[in-house]
Amino acid sequence: MARYTGASCKLCRREGQKLFLKGERCYSNKCSVDRRPYAPGMHGQQRKKLSEYGIQLREKQKAKRFYGVLESQFRKYYEMAIRKKGITGEVLLQILESRLDNVVYRMGFGTSRDESRQLVTHGHFLVNGRRVNIPSYLIKEGDVIEVAEKSKKIERFKEILDVTGGKVVPKWLEVDQENMKGRVISLPEREDIDLPIQEHLIVELYSK
Ligand code: SF4
Repeated sequence: MARYTGASCKLCRREGQKLFLKGERCYSNKCSVDRRPYAPGMHGQQRKKLSEYGIQLREKQKAKRFYGVLESQFRKYYEMAIRKKGITGEVLLQILESRLDNVVYRMGFGTSRDESRQLVTHGHFLVNGRRVNIPSYLIKEGDVIEVAEKSKKIERFKEILDVTGGKVVPKWLEVDQENMKGRVISLPEREDIDLPIQEHLIVELYSK
């Protein structure tokens, strides 16, 4: 399973906004976007006017980075979205939101999508009572996601819940923090997804 292993903060600085890739650090005064609000590299502080293609490309890159998905998988999600009913861009976001690592993050069982992905890979989660260690596993309406019984005793989960305890859980999910368990009430609609992504630009890019 391929994933980006470079410096996360550089990705945020490249997109010019917080992508919340590092958990607690993103909410602290150590955040690199706050400290150095310009693109990385020698010419990072120069302002560049982007072409139409450049704007569309940046939007796609931003979406990929929010969800920690590489190009080939992102493209597959786009192909899936085309085949489904509905507005392609919105369906694409719905598919990305349905990834197990994202759902774990949204439920507050990981401080970032990256951490959630790692926790899933290490087999700490059950979906409908069965262990699932594939971060890209797509959840469905009604699925129950829970921390495996043995894993509940791990100190890191206590620390995570301390950090995410006050976090607002999106209305398409319900969470029982005490029992480290949650349920997918329904798949998210566009208005349930709070990310600043203009998905129509991604569709325009891929439709060329
Ligand atoms: Fe992005 Fe978080 Fe790094 Fe800030 S601390 S630049 S939000 S990954």
